Amino acid sequence: MSIRRLPEDVINRIAAGEVVERPASALKELVENAIDAQSTRIAIRLIKGGLDGIEVIDNGIGIPSQEMRLALERHATSKLPESDAIEAVTTLGFRGEALPSIASVARLTLESRTADSDSGWQIIIDNGHFEKEGIAPLPKGTRIKVEALFSRIPARRKFMRSAKSEYMACHDVVRRLAMTRPDIAFSLEHDGRRIFSLNAGENRQRRVAALIDRTLKDNSITVEYQRDQMQLEGVASLPTFHRGLPDHQYLFVNGRPVKDRLLIGSVRAAYHDLLAKDRHPVLALFLTLPNSDVDINVHPAKGEVRFREAQAVRSLIVGALRESLDLSGFRTAQPADIQTMGKWQKSSDSPPSSVKNTPIHEEKSSLADSNILFKSRLPEAPRPPLSGKNLKNTNSDLWSAATKSPLPPMGRNSTPYPSESSQQTDFPLGLARGQIAATYIIAESKDGLVIVDQHAAHERLVMERMRRALENGQVTSQRLLMPDVVEMDEVSCDLFEQRQDEFTAMGLETERFGHEAILVRATPAMLGNCEVKAMIKDLAAEIAAYDQSLLLKEKFDHIVATMACHGSVRAGRLLSIAEMNALLREMEITPHSGQCNHGRPTWVKLGHKDIEKLFGRS
Ligand code: ADP
Ligand code: MG
Repeated sequence: MSIRRLPEDVINRIAAGEVVERPASALKELVENAIDAQSTRIAIRLIKGGLDGIEVIDNGIGIPSQEMRLALERHATSKLPESDAIEAVTTLGFRGEALPSIASVARLTLESRTADSDSGWQIIIDNGHFEKEGIAPLPKGTRIKVEALFSRIPARRKFMRSAKSEYMACHDVVRRLAMTRPDIAFSLEHDGRRIFSLNAGENRQRRVAALIDRTLKDNSITVEYQRDQMQLEGVASLPTFHRGLPDHQYLFVNGRPVKDRLLIGSVRAAYHDLLAKDRHPVLALFLTLPNSDVDINVHPAKGEVRFREAQAVRSLIVGALRESLDLSGFRTAQPADIQTMGKWQKSSDSPPSSVKNTPIHEEKSSLADSNILFKSRLPEAPRPPLSGKNLKNTNSDLWSAATKSPLPPMGRNSTPYPSESSQQTDFPLGLARGQIAATYIIAESKDGLVIVDQHAAHERLVMERMRRALENGQVTSQRLLMPDVVEMDEVSCDLFEQRQDEFTAMGLETERFGHEAILVRATPAMLGNCEVKAMIKDLAAEIAAYDQSLLLKEKFDHIVATMACHGSVRAGRLLSIAEMNALLREMEITPHSGQCNHGRPTWVKLGHKDIEKLFGRS
């Protein structure tokens, strides 16, 4: 056999294997072309997940009619700078492969008109063969129709999945591209159904929320961060707004959607102590860095990139997310979810037969004694942003008022609380009014009713406090009256023993005790009377699970979280009003206090409007 050059249509078809793997990859090329053409409006229509039809209409600069044939030729592009420097490319495309590749495996209709021509021009190519061309009525811009994709390549067609999964992939492509450009209006239609229609000029948070979940807008923070030559901005959900899969985590590098494992790892690191291990936040992050620090040419069709310094990028993402989440303070996903509201509403259908008093407990708990730091904070509780009355006095006034007459008798003037109480509800989380089920604190704020999960909230506070104490080197330990012996298997004991010094630095003093036990002599003072045995076992499990995989800082956070859990006010513990208020005030000034270590909210609020709804008043 002699060597010969491949004919053009065969070359294109081979290239098409790379560029046009499935409808979504063809769509990606077409939408990128529309973006590169400076369009401000892009409309996309799909039929059967793009398998039967893809249409992209834009209002961009268009292609001069005399260049349209060239645009359909291989390696013909208008996008490579004069210098031919690939590094200097600022457009999404530059290889000049997409149109000829798509045209070699489908029937492609290209119509375009530039601003200065009187009419549009149309060319039709069917599976690599020129079919016809001529004048076409058209406003300024470009319209490309791709029909019967792979119909002449049965082998390829067979590999396509259902129209539904092809549609999902197409939707994902459009979603990602639409996120990068809130300045462009996008619309998507599938089988005649309008999927979305987004206006140009939206801010990024709104655009991202519109593409993922409308409620994200109120449950996310914005990220803005700069380090050296790198810049990161974007939108990230509050830890209380999470999903079972990491399927809504988007990364963009220099304006291009990319898929990189680095993102998943960085996000996990940033949220690790704010979310349960099987829950995932929602986010879209836009990274900008010098072109010389990233290779976007690894696999453009798949969105793969390579960073010169991946570690620096990772640390930027983790740092930026952490810092932004720190600033979110005690915020949590609000309001209480719809279903819960529904339940409240149901119970109002049948009026209660007798009015029951909320069980408000007067009994003083032992919390203050068991928790040294907690107690010492009480007198100097942080001042609220708006009002500054002495907490203790106010509380005792309220306390007596509330207990003496929790519900005023009918017919009398119906204010159960002293009138000056209204201004004290200026605290963001309000003033404690009582406790229910010995588990939830009920507080009244200016704008509604606040319910706090005392265990979840306290666990978070202990953890943040511990973290601060450790950072400032102010850890004290509390000796146990009798050392506690914790029995565990030998491997766990070995692992534990290796970390002994680190634990000592955190106030937990232990000693190996024979083959299969650890002796505990002292525990971190701020944990109070913690459950020593359970805590040691949990710590050992943490070490076994994470020792290999996490950064030092992350391991440390895990350990603090585990300790905090064992030092927290349990559900079922009765609290005094003063203790409840101290907890609320500390939550207000503690970062991340809006969620527990597993990403559940620590508090919810029922606004006055919601309450009115429950009673059918609005
Ligand atoms: P590339 O985008 O890499 O240049 P393509 O094959 O995707 O290669 O497109 C070839 C050329 O056709 C582009 O360089 C551009 O000049 C022109 N073109 C394609 N689509 C459009 C469009 N929607 N609007 C204006 N010009 C377009
Ligand atoms: Mg292109």
